[in-house]
Amino acid sequence: MKLRCKCDHIIVDQTDNLENKGYILPDTYVEDVSVTLTDNIDSLIEALKSDKRLSWIKNKFQNGYPTTLKDSSMIHDLVSNKIVETTQDIFECENCGRIAIQVGQTNQFKYFFPDSEETKGILKGKKK
Ligand SMILES: [Zn+2]
Repeated sequence: MKLRCKCDHIIVDQTDNLENKGYILPDTYVEDVSVTLTDNIDSLIEALKSDKRLSWIKNKFQNGYPTTLKDSSMIHDLVSNKIVETTQDIFECENCGRIAIQVGQTNQFKYFFPDSEETKGILKGKKK
């Protein structure tokens, strides 16, 4: 994805681990994400105990989902899907320091201009 900032700089979102990208998780979805994690772990453990792993996979994923993945990878996929559904992207323009926030789950972004130059780099987290 590419985003044109108000300053005309193009913000490019084509790789992982971007220093100027983040996610907003609205407080009203925190419980949803948490429950997605815990409920799926519980139900998978139950399915494993009763030898129903394959029907659990069929119930949780679309046709064609591989059945040979690690259990943790399947839980990861379920939680990731929920996070994608519930978070909004946030980008910081490397040129002007504006913050672009995705409007809900739409393709639109709202821009916010920082108070001062010192605010630049505010999103910078630890690089892996
Ligand atoms: Zn900009």
